[in-house]
Amino acid sequence: MVQVVNSNSFKGISPKNLMEATYQASGNFQVRAVFEAKDEILKAGKFSENEFYQILDAMVDAETERKLVLERLKDKDPLFLEEIVKEIKEFPADNVIRDVIYLREQGYVQEHVEIKTKMVIKKIKGEEKEVEVKEYFYRYQVIESPIEQFFEPVSIVFKAGVCCQCGWCSAICPVNAIEVTADTLEIDKDACMKCGLCFSVCPKSFSIDQAYKSIKKLDKSLNWSDKIGAYVNTYTASTTIDEIKEVRQDGGVVTSILEYLLEKKIVDAIVAVQHSKDIWRPEPIIVDDVKDLYKTGGTKYANSPSLKIIDEAKNYENLAFVGVPCMMKAIEKGTLFPSGLPFFNNIKYKIGLFCMESFPYSDLIKLVKDKFDKKIDELTKMNIDKGKFIINLTSGEELKVDLKEVQSYARDNCHFCEDLTSDYADISVGSIGSQAGFSSVITRTKEGEKLFNDVVRAGLIETKSLKEVKPGQGLLERIAGIKRKKCKPIDLKQNKMES
Ligand SMILES: Cc1cc2nc3c(=O)[nH]c(=O)nc-3n(C[C@H](O)[C@H](O)[C@H](O)COP(=O)(O)OP(=O)(O)OC[C@H]3O[C@@H](n4cnc5c(N)ncnc54)[C@H](O)[C@@H]3O)c2cc1C
Ligand code: SF4
Ligand code: SF4
Ligand code: SF4
Repeated sequence: MVQVVNSNSFKGISPKNLMEATYQASGNFQVRAVFEAKDEILKAGKFSENEFYQILDAMVDAETERKLVLERLKDKDPLFLEEIVKEIKEFPADNVIRDVIYLREQGYVQEHVEIKTKMVIKKIKGEEKEVEVKEYFYRYQVIESPIEQFFEPVSIVFKAGVCCQCGWCSAICPVNAIEVTADTLEIDKDACMKCGLCFSVCPKSFSIDQAYKSIKKLDKSLNWSDKIGAYVNTYTASTTIDEIKEVRQDGGVVTSILEYLLEKKIVDAIVAVQHSKDIWRPEPIIVDDVKDLYKTGGTKYANSPSLKIIDEAKNYENLAFVGVPCMMKAIEKGTLFPSGLPFFNNIKYKIGLFCMESFPYSDLIKLVKDKFDKKIDELTKMNIDKGKFIINLTSGEELKVDLKEVQSYARDNCHFCEDLTSDYADISVGSIGSQAGFSSVITRTKEGEKLFNDVVRAGLIETKSLKEVKPGQGLLERIAGIKRKKCKPIDLKQNKMES
Protein backbone atom coordinates (compact mmCIF):
# COMPACT_ATOMS: atom_id res chain seq x y z
CA MET A 1 0.00 0.00 0.00
CA VAL A 2 1.43 3.36 -0.92
CA GLN A 3 2.30 5.23 2.19
CA VAL A 4 1.03 8.80 2.26
CA VAL A 5 3.25 11.19 4.14
CA ASN A 6 0.89 12.80 6.61
CA SER A 7 0.90 16.46 7.26
CA ASN A 8 3.36 16.42 10.13
CA SER A 9 2.30 16.75 13.68
CA PHE A 10 4.65 19.13 15.45
CA LYS A 11 3.20 18.42 18.89
CA GLY A 12 5.81 18.74 21.61
CA ILE A 13 8.05 21.12 19.63
CA SER A 14 8.53 24.51 21.28
CA PRO A 15 6.80 27.37 19.38
CA LYS A 16 10.16 29.17 19.06
CA ASN A 17 11.93 26.15 17.50
CA LEU A 18 8.98 25.49 15.24
CA MET A 19 8.84 29.07 14.02
CA GLU A 20 12.59 29.10 13.34
CA ALA A 21 12.41 25.76 11.44
CA THR A 22 9.39 26.87 9.39
CA TYR A 23 11.16 30.12 8.52
CA GLN A 24 14.21 28.19 7.31
CA ALA A 25 11.99 25.72 5.44
CA SER A 26 10.28 28.48 3.50
CA GLY A 27 13.70 29.51 2.19
CA ASN A 28 14.38 26.04 0.74
CA PHE A 29 14.95 26.19 -3.02
CA GLN A 30 12.26 23.64 -3.90
CA VAL A 31 9.63 25.36 -1.76
CA ARG A 32 10.55 28.76 -3.25
CA ALA A 33 10.58 27.49 -6.82
CA VAL A 34 7.09 25.98 -6.50
CA PHE A 35 5.71 29.02 -4.65
CA GLU A 36 7.09 31.49 -7.20
CA ALA A 37 5.80 29.48 -10.16
CA LYS A 38 2.18 29.40 -8.93
CA ASP A 39 0.81 31.11 -12.05
CA GLU A 40 2.73 28.86 -14.47
CA ILE A 41 1.70 25.75 -12.51
CA LEU A 42 -1.99 26.67 -12.56
CA LYS A 43 -1.71 27.57 -16.25
CA ALA A 44 -0.23 24.14 -17.01
CA GLY A 45 -3.55 22.73 -15.76
CA LYS A 46 -2.18 19.70 -13.92
CA PHE A 47 -3.20 20.93 -10.47
CA SER A 48 -6.14 22.97 -9.19
CA GLU A 49 -5.42 25.91 -6.91
CA ASN A 50 -6.51 23.79 -3.96
CA GLU A 51 -4.07 21.01 -4.93
CA PHE A 52 -1.32 23.56 -5.48
CA TYR A 53 -1.66 24.73 -1.88
CA GLN A 54 -1.86 21.15 -0.61
CA ILE A 55 1.43 20.41 -2.36
CA LEU A 56 3.07 23.55 -1.06
CA ASP A 57 1.86 22.95 2.51
CA ALA A 58 3.07 19.36 2.40
CA MET A 59 6.47 20.51 1.10
CA VAL A 60 6.82 23.17 3.81
CA ASP A 61 5.79 20.68 6.53
CA ALA A 62 8.25 18.05 5.30
CA GLU A 63 11.06 20.60 5.03
CA THR A 64 10.24 22.00 8.51
CA GLU A 65 10.47 18.51 9.96
CA ARG A 66 13.85 18.03 8.25
CA LYS A 67 15.16 21.28 9.72
CA LEU A 68 14.07 20.13 13.20
CA VAL A 69 15.72 16.72 12.70
CA LEU A 70 18.88 18.48 11.52
CA GLU A 71 18.91 20.68 14.60
CA ARG A 72 18.64 17.64 16.88
CA LEU A 73 21.58 15.94 15.15
CA LYS A 74 23.95 18.90 15.38
CA ASP A 75 27.19 18.27 17.33
CA LYS A 76 26.57 14.51 17.44
CA ASP A 77 29.12 11.85 16.45
CA PRO A 78 28.26 9.76 13.37
CA LEU A 79 25.18 7.64 14.21
CA PHE A 80 23.50 4.61 12.65
CA LEU A 81 19.93 5.22 11.44
CA GLU A 82 18.68 2.97 14.25
CA GLU A 83 20.49 5.17 16.80
CA ILE A 84 19.07 8.34 15.25
CA VAL A 85 15.55 6.92 15.46
CA LYS A 86 16.07 6.22 19.19
CA GLU A 87 17.46 9.73 19.69
CA ILE A 88 14.63 11.61 17.93
CA LYS A 89 11.31 10.56 19.38
CA GLU A 90 9.32 13.64 18.27
CA PHE A 91 8.51 12.14 14.84
CA PRO A 92 7.58 8.65 13.61
CA ALA A 93 10.69 6.50 13.08
CA ASP A 94 10.11 6.06 9.33
CA ASN A 95 9.80 9.84 8.89
CA VAL A 96 13.11 10.36 10.69
CA ILE A 97 14.82 7.81 8.42
CA ARG A 98 13.52 9.37 5.20
CA ASP A 99 14.47 12.82 6.54
CA VAL A 100 18.08 11.79 7.16
CA ILE A 101 18.40 10.36 3.64
CA TYR A 102 16.99 13.54 2.09
CA LEU A 103 19.25 15.71 4.29
CA ARG A 104 22.17 13.71 2.89
CA GLU A 105 21.11 14.61 -0.64
CA GLN A 106 20.51 18.24 0.32
CA GLY A 107 24.13 18.43 1.49
CA TYR A 108 23.46 18.83 5.22
CA VAL A 109 24.39 15.35 6.40
CA GLN A 110 27.39 13.22 5.53
CA GLU A 111 27.16 9.45 5.09
CA HIS A 112 30.10 7.46 6.49
CA VAL A 113 30.43 3.96 5.03
CA GLU A 114 32.39 1.28 6.85
CA ILE A 115 33.07 -2.03 5.11
CA LYS A 116 33.77 -5.11 7.23
CA THR A 117 34.60 -8.54 5.88
CA LYS A 118 33.71 -11.88 7.41
CA MET A 119 34.22 -15.50 6.35
CA VAL A 120 31.13 -17.67 5.88
CA ILE A 121 30.61 -21.27 4.71
CA LYS A 122 28.65 -21.49 1.43
CA LYS A 123 27.60 -24.44 -0.72
CA ILE A 124 29.00 -23.85 -4.21
CA LYS A 125 28.14 -26.48 -6.84
CA GLY A 126 27.38 -28.97 -4.04
CA GLU A 127 30.72 -28.36 -2.24
CA GLU A 128 31.00 -26.42 1.03
CA LYS A 129 33.51 -23.59 0.70
CA GLU A 130 34.66 -20.76 2.96
CA VAL A 131 34.08 -17.43 1.20
CA GLU A 132 34.70 -13.81 2.16
CA VAL A 133 31.55 -11.67 2.50
CA LYS A 134 31.52 -7.88 2.71
CA GLU A 135 29.18 -6.10 5.11
CA TYR A 136 28.39 -2.39 4.79
CA PHE A 137 27.61 -0.13 7.75
CA TYR A 138 26.23 3.38 7.24
CA ARG A 139 26.42 6.19 9.78
CA TYR A 140 25.28 9.79 9.46
CA GLN A 141 26.65 13.06 10.81
CA VAL A 142 25.71 16.71 10.30
CA ILE A 143 28.19 18.62 8.10
CA GLU A 144 29.61 21.59 10.03
CA SER A 145 29.38 24.22 7.27
CA PRO A 146 26.86 22.80 4.80
CA ILE A 147 26.12 24.23 1.37
CA GLU A 148 22.58 23.44 0.23
CA GLN A 149 22.58 21.30 -2.93
CA PHE A 150 20.23 22.27 -5.74
CA PHE A 151 18.65 19.36 -7.57
CA GLU A 152 19.16 19.35 -11.31
CA PRO A 153 16.24 18.47 -13.61
CA VAL A 154 16.35 14.78 -14.55
CA SER A 155 18.09 15.41 -17.87
CA ILE A 156 21.20 14.66 -15.76
CA VAL A 157 19.86 11.12 -15.17
CA PHE A 158 19.09 10.58 -18.84
CA LYS A 159 22.47 11.89 -20.00
CA ALA A 160 24.25 9.57 -17.56
CA GLY A 161 22.64 6.65 -19.40
CA VAL A 162 20.78 5.29 -16.35
CA CYS A 163 17.22 6.47 -17.05
CA CYS A 164 14.81 3.52 -17.21
CA GLN A 165 12.18 5.63 -19.10
CA CYS A 166 9.58 4.92 -16.42
CA GLY A 167 7.83 8.24 -17.13
CA TRP A 168 7.36 9.20 -13.48
CA CYS A 169 9.15 12.55 -13.77
CA SER A 170 6.84 13.51 -16.62
CA ALA A 171 3.74 12.76 -14.51
CA ILE A 172 5.12 14.74 -11.58
CA CYS A 173 6.49 17.87 -13.30
CA PRO A 174 4.03 20.61 -12.27
CA VAL A 175 4.56 22.61 -15.48
CA ASN A 176 4.54 19.69 -17.96
CA ALA A 177 8.12 20.42 -18.99
CA ILE A 178 9.17 16.77 -19.42
CA GLU A 179 8.36 14.54 -22.38
CA VAL A 180 9.33 10.88 -21.95
CA THR A 181 9.00 8.12 -24.53
CA ALA A 182 10.29 4.55 -24.41
CA ASP A 183 13.65 5.81 -25.76
CA THR A 184 13.87 9.58 -25.20
CA LEU A 185 13.58 12.21 -22.50
CA GLU A 186 13.30 15.90 -23.32
CA ILE A 187 12.98 18.88 -21.02
CA ASP A 188 11.54 22.17 -22.20
CA LYS A 189 14.18 24.48 -20.70
CA ASP A 190 11.97 27.56 -21.03
CA ALA A 191 9.10 25.95 -19.12
CA CYS A 192 11.29 24.32 -16.43
CA MET A 193 11.25 26.30 -13.15
CA LYS A 194 14.18 24.33 -11.67
CA CYS A 195 12.18 22.97 -8.71
CA GLY A 196 14.07 19.66 -8.77
CA LEU A 197 10.87 17.73 -7.97
CA CYS A 198 11.56 15.36 -10.86
CA PHE A 199 15.00 14.60 -9.38
CA SER A 200 13.52 14.03 -5.90
CA VAL A 201 11.15 11.31 -7.15
CA CYS A 202 13.27 9.69 -9.88
CA PRO A 203 14.20 6.08 -9.02
CA LYS A 204 17.66 6.54 -10.53
CA SER A 205 18.68 9.94 -9.08
CA PHE A 206 19.71 8.96 -5.53
CA SER A 207 19.30 5.74 -3.65
CA ILE A 208 16.60 5.11 -1.07
CA ASP A 209 17.65 1.49 -0.53
CA GLN A 210 19.31 2.23 2.82
CA ALA A 211 16.20 4.06 4.07
CA TYR A 212 13.94 1.28 2.76
CA LYS A 213 15.96 -1.43 4.50
CA SER A 214 15.99 0.45 7.81
CA ILE A 215 12.26 1.28 7.65
CA LYS A 216 11.29 -2.31 6.81
CA LYS A 217 13.50 -3.72 9.58
CA LEU A 218 11.51 -1.65 12.12
CA ASP A 219 8.46 -3.79 11.27
CA LYS A 220 9.06 -7.04 13.14
CA SER A 221 6.11 -8.75 11.40
CA LEU A 222 8.06 -8.76 8.11
CA ASN A 223 10.70 -11.25 6.99
CA TRP A 224 13.93 -9.81 5.64
CA SER A 225 16.22 -11.17 2.91
CA ASP A 226 19.22 -9.23 1.55
CA LYS A 227 18.37 -10.79 -1.83
CA ILE A 228 14.59 -10.47 -2.20
CA GLY A 229 13.98 -7.70 0.35
CA ALA A 230 11.15 -7.47 2.89
CA TYR A 231 8.23 -9.87 2.63
CA VAL A 232 5.28 -11.35 4.47
CA ASN A 233 5.03 -14.68 2.57
CA THR A 234 6.15 -16.39 -0.64
CA TYR A 235 3.89 -18.59 -2.78
CA THR A 236 3.67 -20.47 -6.04
CA ALA A 237 0.29 -19.92 -7.69
CA SER A 238 -1.82 -20.37 -10.80
CA THR A 239 -5.13 -18.98 -12.05
CA THR A 240 -8.25 -21.14 -12.09
CA ILE A 241 -9.93 -19.02 -14.79
CA ASP A 242 -9.86 -20.55 -18.28
CA GLU A 243 -10.01 -17.21 -20.18
CA ILE A 244 -6.97 -15.97 -18.25
CA LYS A 245 -5.09 -19.21 -19.05
CA GLU A 246 -5.46 -18.22 -22.74
CA VAL A 247 -3.66 -14.87 -22.34
CA ARG A 248 -1.35 -15.29 -19.34
CA GLN A 249 2.43 -15.25 -19.32
CA ASP A 250 3.03 -17.67 -16.43
CA GLY A 251 0.45 -18.43 -13.73
CA GLY A 252 -1.97 -15.67 -14.79
CA VAL A 253 -1.74 -14.44 -11.21
CA VAL A 254 -1.42 -10.77 -12.12
CA THR A 255 -4.54 -10.76 -14.31
CA SER A 256 -6.49 -12.75 -11.70
CA ILE A 257 -5.62 -10.24 -8.96
CA LEU A 258 -6.57 -7.35 -11.26
CA GLU A 259 -9.87 -9.02 -12.16
CA TYR A 260 -10.70 -9.45 -8.46
CA LEU A 261 -9.85 -5.81 -7.72
CA LEU A 262 -12.10 -4.53 -10.51
CA GLU A 263 -14.97 -7.01 -9.95
CA LYS A 264 -15.13 -6.26 -6.24
CA LYS A 265 -14.81 -2.52 -6.96
CA ILE A 266 -11.80 -2.30 -4.62
CA VAL A 267 -10.20 -0.15 -7.31
CA ASP A 268 -11.89 1.90 -10.04
CA ALA A 269 -9.12 1.40 -12.59
CA ILE A 270 -5.85 -0.32 -13.36
CA VAL A 271 -2.79 1.00 -15.15
CA ALA A 272 -1.20 -1.84 -17.14
CA VAL A 273 0.11 -2.30 -20.71
CA GLN A 274 -1.33 -3.68 -23.94
CA HIS A 275 0.18 -4.24 -27.40
CA SER A 276 0.30 -0.98 -29.34
CA LYS A 277 -0.55 -0.97 -33.06
CA ASP A 278 2.98 -2.40 -33.49
CA ILE A 279 2.59 -5.86 -31.98
CA TRP A 280 4.91 -6.52 -28.96
CA ARG A 281 5.50 -2.78 -28.46
CA PRO A 282 3.84 -2.18 -25.07
CA GLU A 283 1.72 0.90 -24.51
CA PRO A 284 0.30 1.95 -21.17
CA ILE A 285 -3.46 1.69 -20.77
CA ILE A 286 -5.98 2.64 -18.08
CA VAL A 287 -8.49 -0.20 -17.68
CA ASP A 288 -11.72 0.46 -15.80
CA ASP A 289 -13.79 -2.39 -17.25
CA VAL A 290 -13.04 -6.10 -16.72
CA LYS A 291 -13.86 -6.83 -20.37
CA ASP A 292 -10.73 -4.87 -21.41
CA LEU A 293 -8.48 -6.58 -18.89
CA TYR A 294 -7.54 -9.67 -20.87
CA LYS A 295 -5.77 -7.66 -23.56
CA THR A 296 -3.16 -6.73 -20.93
CA GLY A 297 -2.22 -10.38 -20.19
CA GLY A 298 1.23 -11.70 -21.16
CA THR A 299 4.73 -10.18 -21.03
CA LYS A 300 5.95 -7.66 -23.57
CA TYR A 301 9.73 -7.60 -23.14
CA ALA A 302 10.15 -4.07 -24.49
CA ASN A 303 10.01 -1.23 -21.96
CA SER A 304 6.96 0.98 -21.52
CA PRO A 305 6.93 4.46 -19.92
CA SER A 306 3.78 3.47 -18.02
CA LEU A 307 4.06 5.94 -15.15
CA LYS A 308 3.64 8.92 -17.42
CA ILE A 309 -0.09 8.27 -17.67
CA ILE A 310 -0.66 8.33 -13.93
CA ASP A 311 -1.81 11.92 -14.00
CA GLU A 312 -4.38 11.00 -16.67
CA ALA A 313 -5.75 8.50 -14.13
CA LYS A 314 -5.85 11.13 -11.42
CA ASN A 315 -9.64 11.37 -11.30
CA TYR A 316 -10.06 7.72 -10.33
CA GLU A 317 -10.36 7.42 -6.57
CA ASN A 318 -8.50 4.09 -6.26
CA LEU A 319 -5.95 2.68 -8.68
CA ALA A 320 -3.81 -0.44 -9.02
CA PHE A 321 -0.58 -0.12 -10.99
CA VAL A 322 1.32 -2.97 -12.68
CA GLY A 323 4.94 -2.50 -13.63
CA VAL A 324 8.57 -3.54 -13.40
CA PRO A 325 10.78 -3.03 -10.30
CA CYS A 326 12.16 0.40 -11.30
CA MET A 327 8.56 1.69 -11.47
CA MET A 328 7.72 0.31 -8.05
CA LYS A 329 10.71 2.16 -6.66
CA ALA A 330 9.70 5.35 -8.48
CA ILE A 331 6.23 5.33 -6.87
CA GLU A 332 7.68 4.62 -3.44
CA LYS A 333 10.17 7.43 -3.82
CA GLY A 334 7.38 9.77 -4.85
CA THR A 335 5.59 9.09 -1.57
CA LEU A 336 8.74 9.60 0.48
CA PHE A 337 10.17 12.72 -1.18
CA PRO A 338 9.88 15.58 -1.07
CA SER A 339 6.56 15.37 0.76
CA GLY A 340 3.81 13.14 -0.71
CA LEU A 341 1.77 14.91 -3.36
CA PRO A 342 -2.02 14.62 -3.86
CA PHE A 343 -2.15 12.62 -7.07
CA PHE A 344 -0.06 9.81 -5.64
CA ASN A 345 -2.68 9.03 -3.05
CA ASN A 346 -4.98 7.16 -5.40
CA ILE A 347 -2.43 4.39 -6.15
CA LYS A 348 -3.70 1.83 -3.66
CA TYR A 349 -1.94 -1.29 -4.90
CA LYS A 350 1.42 -1.75 -6.60
CA ILE A 351 1.71 -5.08 -8.42
CA GLY A 352 5.39 -5.53 -9.32
CA LEU A 353 6.80 -7.96 -11.88
CA PHE A 354 10.18 -9.67 -11.58
CA CYS A 355 12.58 -8.24 -14.17
CA MET A 356 16.12 -9.17 -15.12
CA GLU A 357 16.22 -6.75 -18.06
CA SER A 358 14.01 -5.19 -20.73
CA PHE A 359 14.73 -4.48 -24.41
CA PRO A 360 14.37 -1.43 -26.65
CA TYR A 361 11.57 -2.30 -29.09
CA SER A 362 13.83 -1.85 -32.14
CA ASP A 363 16.42 -4.22 -30.63
CA LEU A 364 13.73 -6.78 -29.86
CA ILE A 365 12.82 -6.84 -33.56
CA LYS A 366 16.52 -7.19 -34.40
CA LEU A 367 17.00 -9.96 -31.83
CA VAL A 368 14.14 -12.00 -33.29
CA LYS A 369 15.59 -11.53 -36.78
CA ASP A 370 19.27 -12.16 -35.87
CA LYS A 371 18.77 -15.12 -33.56
CA PHE A 372 15.70 -16.84 -35.04
CA ASP A 373 15.42 -15.38 -38.57
CA LYS A 374 11.77 -14.50 -37.85
CA LYS A 375 9.63 -11.37 -37.98
CA ILE A 376 8.22 -10.10 -34.72
CA ASP A 377 4.61 -10.32 -35.95
CA GLU A 378 5.07 -14.11 -36.37
CA LEU A 379 5.35 -14.49 -32.58
CA THR A 380 2.53 -15.52 -30.24
CA LYS A 381 4.68 -15.48 -27.09
CA MET A 382 8.14 -14.60 -25.79
CA ASN A 383 9.49 -16.03 -22.57
CA ILE A 384 12.63 -16.29 -20.49
CA ASP A 385 12.91 -19.60 -18.66
CA LYS A 386 15.71 -21.78 -17.28
CA GLY A 387 18.43 -19.65 -18.87
CA LYS A 388 16.79 -19.66 -22.34
CA PHE A 389 15.06 -16.96 -24.42
CA ILE A 390 12.08 -18.73 -25.97
CA ILE A 391 9.70 -17.72 -28.75
CA ASN A 392 6.45 -19.35 -29.85
CA LEU A 393 5.28 -18.84 -33.42
CA THR A 394 1.88 -18.62 -35.10
CA SER A 395 2.88 -21.89 -36.83
CA GLY A 396 2.88 -23.61 -33.42
CA GLU A 397 6.69 -23.97 -33.42
CA GLU A 398 8.78 -23.17 -30.30
CA LEU A 399 12.38 -21.95 -30.70
CA LYS A 400 14.98 -21.11 -28.04
CA VAL A 401 18.49 -19.72 -27.63
CA ASP A 402 20.71 -19.30 -24.57
CA LEU A 403 19.80 -16.16 -22.63
CA LYS A 404 23.48 -15.16 -22.75
CA GLU A 405 23.18 -14.80 -26.53
CA VAL A 406 20.45 -12.15 -26.32
CA GLN A 407 21.69 -10.13 -23.37
CA SER A 408 23.63 -7.68 -25.54
CA TYR A 409 20.26 -6.55 -27.01
CA ALA A 410 18.96 -5.48 -23.57
CA ARG A 411 18.71 -1.85 -22.50
CA ASP A 412 22.06 -0.50 -21.22
CA ASN A 413 20.43 1.19 -18.24
CA CYS A 414 19.27 -2.20 -16.93
CA HIS A 415 22.89 -2.95 -15.98
CA PHE A 416 22.49 -0.27 -13.28
CA CYS A 417 19.47 -1.98 -11.74
CA GLU A 418 19.86 -4.17 -8.64
CA ASP A 419 16.25 -5.22 -8.09
CA LEU A 420 14.98 -8.47 -9.64
CA THR A 421 11.85 -8.99 -7.57
CA SER A 422 10.16 -5.56 -7.23
CA ASP A 423 11.24 -4.84 -3.66
CA TYR A 424 8.89 -1.86 -3.42
CA ALA A 425 5.66 -3.56 -4.54
CA ASP A 426 2.71 -4.72 -2.42
CA ILE A 427 2.74 -8.02 -4.33
CA SER A 428 5.58 -9.16 -6.62
CA VAL A 429 5.04 -11.78 -9.35
CA GLY A 430 7.46 -13.63 -11.63
CA SER A 431 8.30 -17.07 -12.92
CA ILE A 432 11.67 -17.87 -11.32
CA GLY A 433 11.23 -20.54 -8.64
CA SER A 434 7.95 -21.99 -9.95
CA GLN A 435 7.02 -24.75 -12.40
CA ALA A 436 5.62 -23.93 -15.89
CA GLY A 437 2.07 -22.55 -15.68
CA PHE A 438 2.70 -21.19 -12.19
CA SER A 439 3.96 -17.84 -10.90
CA SER A 440 6.15 -17.14 -7.89
CA VAL A 441 4.48 -14.57 -5.65
CA ILE A 442 6.00 -12.45 -2.89
CA THR A 443 3.57 -10.59 -0.65
CA ARG A 444 5.43 -7.65 0.82
CA THR A 445 2.93 -5.59 2.77
CA LYS A 446 0.00 -6.50 5.03
CA GLU A 447 -2.36 -5.09 2.40
CA GLY A 448 -0.68 -7.18 -0.32
CA GLU A 449 -0.90 -10.36 1.80
CA LYS A 450 -4.59 -9.74 2.55
CA LEU A 451 -5.40 -9.05 -1.09
CA PHE A 452 -3.60 -12.21 -2.28
CA ASN A 453 -5.42 -14.37 0.30
CA ASP A 454 -8.76 -12.77 -0.58
CA VAL A 455 -8.20 -13.64 -4.26
CA VAL A 456 -7.33 -17.24 -3.27
CA ARG A 457 -10.42 -17.47 -1.00
CA ALA A 458 -12.58 -16.17 -3.87
CA GLY A 459 -11.36 -19.17 -5.90
CA LEU A 460 -9.55 -17.22 -8.66
CA ILE A 461 -6.11 -18.61 -7.78
CA GLU A 462 -4.78 -21.90 -6.41
CA THR A 463 -1.60 -21.73 -4.38
CA LYS A 464 0.94 -23.29 -2.04
CA SER A 465 4.08 -22.07 -0.28
CA LEU A 466 7.07 -21.37 -2.54
CA LYS A 467 9.19 -23.13 0.08
CA GLU A 468 7.32 -26.42 -0.59
CA VAL A 469 8.13 -26.63 -4.33
CA LYS A 470 11.22 -27.10 -6.51
CA PRO A 471 13.24 -25.12 -7.54
CA GLY A 472 11.40 -22.76 -5.16
CA GLN A 473 12.59 -19.84 -3.08
CA GLY A 474 16.22 -21.04 -3.00
CA LEU A 475 16.68 -20.48 -6.75
CA LEU A 476 14.80 -17.18 -6.63
CA GLU A 477 17.07 -15.86 -3.85
CA ARG A 478 20.17 -17.05 -5.68
CA ILE A 479 19.28 -15.28 -8.93
CA ALA A 480 18.11 -12.13 -7.11
CA GLY A 481 21.47 -12.12 -5.29
CA ILE A 482 23.38 -12.43 -8.59
CA LYS A 483 21.51 -9.42 -10.02
CA ARG A 484 22.37 -7.30 -6.97
CA LYS A 485 26.03 -8.35 -7.18
CA LYS A 486 26.34 -7.61 -10.91
CA CYS A 487 24.61 -4.21 -10.71
CA LYS A 488 26.88 -1.32 -11.77
CA PRO A 489 27.04 1.75 -9.50
CA ILE A 490 25.34 4.91 -10.79
CA ASP A 491 27.53 7.96 -11.40
CA LEU A 492 25.40 10.89 -12.55
CA LYS A 493 28.42 13.05 -13.28
CA GLN A 494 29.48 10.67 -15.99
CA ASN A 495 27.58 12.08 -18.95
CA LYS A 496 27.36 9.40 -21.58
CA MET A 497 25.05 11.14 -24.03
CA GLU A 498 25.15 14.37 -25.95
CA SER A 499 22.98 17.11 -24.43
C1 LIG B 1 10.34 -6.56 -19.19
C2 LIG B 1 10.00 -7.75 -18.32
C3 LIG B 1 11.02 -8.61 -17.92
C4 LIG B 1 10.73 -9.70 -17.08
N1 LIG B 1 11.75 -10.52 -16.69
C5 LIG B 1 11.49 -11.54 -15.84
C6 LIG B 1 12.54 -12.38 -15.39
O1 LIG B 1 13.72 -12.18 -15.73
N2 LIG B 1 12.22 -13.40 -14.53
C7 LIG B 1 10.93 -13.64 -14.11
O2 LIG B 1 10.69 -14.56 -13.33
N3 LIG B 1 9.92 -12.85 -14.52
C8 LIG B 1 10.16 -11.82 -15.37
N4 LIG B 1 9.14 -11.02 -15.80
C9 LIG B 1 7.78 -11.27 -15.28
C10 LIG B 1 7.06 -12.38 -16.04
O3 LIG B 1 7.35 -12.30 -17.42
C11 LIG B 1 5.53 -12.26 -15.84
O4 LIG B 1 5.10 -10.96 -16.14
C12 LIG B 1 5.12 -12.58 -14.42
O5 LIG B 1 5.54 -13.88 -14.08
C13 LIG B 1 3.60 -12.49 -14.25
O6 LIG B 1 3.01 -13.54 -14.97
P1 LIG B 1 1.44 -13.74 -14.94
O7 LIG B 1 1.10 -14.88 -15.80
O8 LIG B 1 0.96 -13.73 -13.51
O9 LIG B 1 1.00 -12.33 -15.60
P2 LIG B 1 -0.21 -12.04 -16.58
O10 LIG B 1 -1.48 -12.42 -15.91
O11 LIG B 1 0.08 -12.54 -17.93
O12 LIG B 1 -0.15 -10.43 -16.60
C14 LIG B 1 1.00 -9.78 -17.09
C15 LIG B 1 0.98 -8.34 -16.63
O13 LIG B 1 2.24 -7.77 -16.97
C16 LIG B 1 2.04 -6.48 -17.50
N5 LIG B 1 3.13 -6.21 -18.45
C17 LIG B 1 3.45 -6.93 -19.55
N6 LIG B 1 4.50 -6.39 -20.18
C18 LIG B 1 4.84 -5.29 -19.46
C19 LIG B 1 5.84 -4.29 -19.63
N7 LIG B 1 6.69 -4.30 -20.64
N8 LIG B 1 5.89 -3.31 -18.70
C20 LIG B 1 5.01 -3.25 -17.68
N9 LIG B 1 4.07 -4.20 -17.47
C21 LIG B 1 3.98 -5.18 -18.36
C22 LIG B 1 0.68 -6.52 -18.17
O14 LIG B 1 0.10 -5.26 -18.15
C23 LIG B 1 -0.09 -7.51 -17.30
O15 LIG B 1 -0.81 -6.82 -16.31
C24 LIG B 1 9.39 -9.93 -16.65
C25 LIG B 1 8.38 -9.05 -17.06
C26 LIG B 1 8.68 -7.95 -17.87
C27 LIG B 1 7.58 -7.01 -18.27
S1 SF4 C 1 11.82 9.44 -13.38
FE1 SF4 C 1 12.01 7.67 -14.73
S2 SF4 C 1 11.84 8.54 -16.81
FE2 SF4 C 1 12.26 10.22 -15.42
S3 SF4 C 1 14.50 10.44 -15.47
FE3 SF4 C 1 14.00 9.15 -13.73
S4 SF4 C 1 14.17 7.09 -14.56
FE4 SF4 C 1 14.02 8.46 -16.31
S1 SF4 D 1 11.52 19.59 -15.30
FE1 SF4 D 1 11.92 19.01 -13.19
S2 SF4 D 1 12.95 20.77 -12.34
FE2 SF4 D 1 11.94 21.46 -14.21
S3 SF4 D 1 9.94 22.17 -13.55
FE3 SF4 D 1 9.68 20.06 -14.13
S4 SF4 D 1 9.91 18.95 -12.20
FE4 SF4 D 1 10.74 21.00 -11.86
S1 SF4 E 1 16.04 -4.33 -15.26
FE1 SF4 E 1 15.51 -2.74 -13.79
S2 SF4 E 1 15.76 -0.82 -14.94
FE2 SF4 E 1 15.59 -2.48 -16.45
S3 SF4 E 1 13.41 -2.54 -16.93
FE3 SF4 E 1 13.81 -4.07 -15.34
S4 SF4 E 1 13.37 -2.98 -13.44
FE4 SF4 E 1 13.60 -1.41 -15.00
